[in-house]
Amino acid sequence: MSNENERERDTDMTDRDADHGHGAPLTETQLRVRALESLLVEKGLVDPAALDALIEAYEKKIGPRNGARVVARAWVDPAYKERLLANATAAIAELGFTGRQGEDMVALENTPTVHNVVVCTLCSCYPWPVLGLPPVWYKSAPYRSRAVIDPRGVLRELGVDVGDDVEVRVWDSTAELRYLVLPERPPGTEGMTEEELAALVTRDAMIGVARVEAPAGGQARTGRR
Ligand code: FE
Repeated sequence: MSNENERERDTDMTDRDADHGHGAPLTETQLRVRALESLLVEKGLVDPAALDALIEAYEKKIGPRNGARVVARAWVDPAYKERLLANATAAIAELGFTGRQGEDMVALENTPTVHNVVVCTLCSCYPWPVLGLPPVWYKSAPYRSRAVIDPRGVLRELGVDVGDDVEVRVWDSTAELRYLVLPERPPGTEGMTEEELAALVTRDAMIGVARVEAPAGGQARTGRR
């Protein structure tokens, strides 16, 4: 899934004010942040579009890079992958990614026969240390309900056709457990370095609503399979 598609989707679904805490009222900090933002915008000191751009950067560019490094490491290092699937919290911490909303991580491996999708049906629980801030569509009511009722339909709309022979597993995040999907390594990437692989891994692939694609045109260096 390209960033372009992610952007379109993000603007399609709007539920900016979705709760982060299972319907809990806003915290003192959230209230203060909102008050501050309103005041700064009102006084013309900040441009809401600039704030949105900053948030978008955390959603797509900065936050998910940590998760992408975890995925790339698992692709190139079978022992690491084993540790990741056995105890994701510890394996992710090996790479230095720890913190709030990432205390109890579970990694879900996508295979040719199993496709995992992550949702938070109640609100927007999301693994911050590896993925950053949740995208707007993840917090939207349509995604939260439909991902459970009709996961194949949602995946199809998002451009992921899952064959009838593939089992779709939907995982509901909670305040206790957060999930990271380990996407399938795309064919044609055999000669790529860990860093190059990490650059291919998108946020959406780690939520399970996209596949990781090999670079367009294949790899000049290693040729295509
Ligand atoms: Fe939640």
